[in-house]
Formats: sequence, C-alpha cells, structure tokens
Amino acid sequence: MNADQEIFELIEAERKRQQSGLELIASENFASDQVMRAMGSVLTNKYAEGLPGKRYYGGCEIVDRVEDLARNRLKTLFNAEWVNVQPHSGAQANAAVMLACLNPGDTILGFDLSHGGHLTHGSPVNFSGKLYKPTFYGVEKDTEIIDYDRVEKTASKEKPKMIICGASAYSRDWDYERLRKIADENNAILLADISHPSGLIAKGILKDPLAHCHIVTSTTHKTLRGPRGGIIMMGSDFENPFGHKTPKGQIKMMSQLLDSAVFPGTQGGPLEHVIAAKAVAFGEALTDEFMHYTVQVVKNAKVMATAFVEKGYHVISNGTDNHSMLIDLRSKNITGKAAEKALELADVTVNKNMVPFDDKSPFVTSGMRVGTPALTTRGLVEEDMKRVVDYIDKVLSNPDNEQITNTVKAEINDWMKDKPLFAQ
Ligand SMILES: *Cc1c(COP(=O)(O)O)cnc(C)c1O
Repeated sequence: MNADQEIFELIEAERKRQQSGLELIASENFASDQVMRAMGSVLTNKYAEGLPGKRYYGGCEIVDRVEDLARNRLKTLFNAEWVNVQPHSGAQANAAVMLACLNPGDTILGFDLSHGGHLTHGSPVNFSGKLYKPTFYGVEKDTEIIDYDRVEKTASKEKPKMIICGASAYSRDWDYERLRKIADENNAILLADISHPSGLIAKGILKDPLAHCHIVTSTTHKTLRGPRGGIIMMGSDFENPFGHKTPKGQIKMMSQLLDSAVFPGTQGGPLEHVIAAKAVAFGEALTDEFMHYTVQVVKNAKVMATAFVEKGYHVISNGTDNHSMLIDLRSKNITGKAAEKALELADVTVNKNMVPFDDKSPFVTSGMRVGTPALTTRGLVEEDMKRVVDYIDKVLSNPDNEQITNTVKAEINDWMKDKPLFAQ
C-alpha cells in the first residue's frame, strides 16, 4: 500500500528509535493513536480560511463542526471565554498576539532567553526581537528564582507595552496575580505563554493564568499531549487592556483583533486535520485519566529532581514545581553539549541548555534540561525515575567509556522493549 518505501521506512525507523530509548526532552510527549489518526485524515485536503460559519470557501460544513468541537472543548478545559485553535505552532500563536497588540518598535518585556525564556519572547534572531524592542527580566543569582519586586522595577524603567511571562526552562510556578498588578501599573498587556505547563495548568496542578493575564498562548504538543500546534485563549476577567480606557466590550474587541491577526494577519488556511487532532487531545485532557497522568508527571519530576540532587548534581532553584528541571553540570565537569552527546549514545535523549548566568555559549552550555511528560506517558512511575537517574549518572560519570555506555544502552533497550509509547 505504501509505495513510497523510502519515507515509510524512515518513519518506521523513527518509531523504533522512540520505542527503544528514554525520552527526557521536556517539550516532547507521545500523542495517542486517535490523535495521530485524526492528523492523518482527509481533513488535510480542505481549505477553510476564516472561522466556523464565516469561511472564504464552500464545503466547510463538516470542518466547521470539527473546529467548533475543538473550540468548545478547549474553552471547557481552561474555563476560557474565547479561544482560537488555528495557530500552526506556539511561535505562530505568539506572532499573532504581538501583531494584534503591538506596533513595530514597541517595547516588550520578556523572560531572559539565557535564564530559560523562549526565542519568541524577544530574541534578536527572532521576529519578536527584530520587530519590537526587547527588554528582559531574569532570575536572581542566589535563589535562581524570579524576584517580582525586581520585575516591577524593570517594568517601571522600561515601560513595556507588553509583558510576557512563561518559559521553556523554568521549573517554578508563576505569580500571575502579581504580574497583572505590574502590567496594570504600566498600562501593559500581560501575555502568558504556557506552552510547557499547559497540561498541568488545565488540571489545576499549577496556578491559573487565565484568571489574571489578558491573553494566554500555548502549544498543544507538550504537556497537553496533542498534535504539534498552537492555541490562543482569553479568560473571563479580560478588561481594560489598553490603559483602562474601555471598560466594556473589551474581550469582543480584542478577540476580533486576535482572530484577524491569526488569519489573514500571519497565516493562510488553517490545518483542519490538526485542529481535529487538537479536539481529540482536548477531549482526552478533559478525562480523569489525564488528571492521573498530570499528577504522575509532577510526582515523577519531584522524585527525579531529588535523585539528581542526591547524586551531587545542582538542580537549578533546587527543585521543581512542574514537569521539568534544569541541571547545572559544572559540578560534574561536563558541558551540556558533551552530556547530550554521551547520553544519546546510550539512547537517552535530553537537550543541552544554558543555565542562568552561564559562562559558556548556547552551542556548548553548562546545563541540560530534562522533563517527565514523555516517560510518564509510557507508564513510568516514581521508582522508575530513580533508575533513569542512575543510568544518566553512570553515563555522565564515564562519558568516554564505551563499554559502560553500551551496557546502559542495552539495559534501557531491554527495559523499554515492551512498553508502549502511549500507556497512560
Ligand atoms: C515550545 C515553546 C514555544 C514554541 O512552540 P513551537 O510550536 O515550537 O513554535 C513558544 N513558547 C514557549 C515558552 C515554548 O516553550
């Protein structure tokens, strides 16, 4: 049936790679079969520019129902007043929000990339740093945690039009309420990018940004465990984004700006096959099973952090509130780059990562980022996390010892052999 052997053999090889190793990249997960089936469906054939009921193409009756299901499920999941499920990715969601809210040259204030922030929050190599004037806040040197008094001072100095919270490598929860006060003092819009912890937030395990932030963006493929994609949401308390001028009807006005910033502002036709897969994932996320999953993700992360500390690793901020942690490898005399490479040879996948106040370049780094969402989807629990850390420590303590690497790899392959990608 598959005539294109070249590509389907590669897909099978990738499936085997995912099956046989330990996946610790904090931004990755394993989607369910029904999520993947929706993605690989005939919905990919359909053009549907516009929104349900207001399309620029005929024949949209069915994709309208698909997209409405996705929107309604997402609203229920986050208790959101308004959502847009069309952004192709997290970066696209942020681009649309900035296009809707900012003019070129406006100042934005984001979490420092080298402290765990994301490229789309003002990096000079990204549209956000090229079109807008980026300024940053970070963590404190001693605690490795954000000090909101300092954020307040930075905001009153920089006078940003938008404050962005959320990160790719920050293991602590966020004080959205405090950030909203800071935003209000400066007539700034507060954007929370919850790309990483959105699955945990949906189940109430972490604080709710929708209650305090004007706009919330996320990916759908990290802890939310859906297809690769993005979303934009607004909570029910949305008021007064532009300097307290218009108390009523703001959410409607802002939602129209955001809808048109997605299409036609930054995208063409929506990916209705991916939107169907998002609907499936939101449906899964509404279940009690997903509640158990997210609880386990956090339990696993706490046990993993403790296990690293017990083996003499420095976990940034000394622990984690969420699914991820950043590990400073300097006490182990190995760089992030070398650690990533050594672990890869043992079929353990992590990513090198800058640590706050890193003295090495982004290509080398002093740290690595790890997370538990993918391992937890495979059914691993607390005890297993200790075993995972044992393996990692063995490899990193002997990075040039081929025999140790091969033994660890064989043990991991044997352990993972019968574990489905999507077990819980
Ligand atoms: C992953 C991530 C994104 C980008 O998502 P893509 O789908 O890769 O574009 C944006 N913001 C944060 C904080 C992220 O962690």
